[in-house]
Amino acid sequence: VFQLSVPLNFLGSVYRELRQSLLDMETLFNLQKVNVAIKEPKDAKPLLLNKGGEIRFENVTFGYREDRPILRNMNLTIPAGKKVAIVGPSGCGKSTILRLLFRFYDVQEGRITIDGQDIREVTLESLRKSIGVVPQDTSLFNDTIEHNIRYGNIDAGDDAVRAAAKRAKIHDIIESFPDGYKTMVGERGMMISGGEKQRLAISRLVMKDPPLLFFDEATSALDTHTEQGLLHNINSVIKEKARTSVFVAHRLRTIYDSDVIIVLKDGSVAEQGTHETLVDSDGIYSELWSAQEMLFSEEEMAQQEKEKA
Ligand code: ATP
Repeated sequence: VFQLSVPLNFLGSVYRELRQSLLDMETLFNLQKVNVAIKEPKDAKPLLLNKGGEIRFENVTFGYREDRPILRNMNLTIPAGKKVAIVGPSGCGKSTILRLLFRFYDVQEGRITIDGQDIREVTLESLRKSIGVVPQDTSLFNDTIEHNIRYGNIDAGDDAVRAAAKRAKIHDIIESFPDGYKTMVGERGMMISGGEKQRLAISRLVMKDPPLLFFDEATSALDTHTEQGLLHNINSVIKEKARTSVFVAHRLRTIYDSDVIIVLKDGSVAEQGTHETLVDSDGIYSELWSAQEMLFSEEEMAQQEKEKA
């Protein structure tokens, strides 16, 4: 992918489509690292988002190996245009849900639908074009920062690139680099931090502007202050455009304002509701929240002590 993308920069519009799919492939490899031959039926039709992007898992059973199910007879609904969070213990299958939605794997039983269409019956291209992912770890192309953001929408003008960078809270940092937006990054370019990479990935997503947005621990490398500012910006994009968005998260502080919070345990949905209803119901979420809040106030206190010293 990396070697190909450079010569393609100099070719005409025939290759634009191809470059866009290279970007999607990059996302694919990031999420999963292994390519699996998933096929579409001959009569596959493009995915039609005619209900605003409602996602449903109906009696879904899935395991990477048949003898070890990760999701068991799972039912869940991600309402159109809403912000939904998926939380639960490490290894319970949160990222797996995103991989299934992108159709890197097919379910063993049940079905996944988007606006009523089984995702196995639509074209892979239309499915993957509709989804934008900010993965846990983004890789950058060996190119300028500007190009790395523009890969989200290769026809975008300079103003749009800058607006996306501002939304992702990275514009000022880019301006402070010696060559600004022309700074080379990637393996052969300037080293940038994990948090900066995450913000570039988010600006790319703002550029792509897909109807369905997935965030897989997308702000985990940021300090609390920067993270809160960035989440505020992400929320404003989601609300403004009524995008269906799914956040996989460990730190509940980053998702407590979601319209729906889904708590997974042992391969199915253990609890769901808003932050308030879940805290009141004294279940898994409520316990996790108390534990994390305690940890958070300890960290905050330690930070304040450090600042005083
Ligand atoms: P975390 O919070 O730690 O990121 P998660 O809830 O997102 O975890 P998943 O990444 O969905 O969990 O993984 C669920 C289970 O599936 C884990 O036990 C993991 O080891 C297993 N798993 C994940 N990817 C694969 C794979 N490609 N092949 C086999 N097993 C896998």
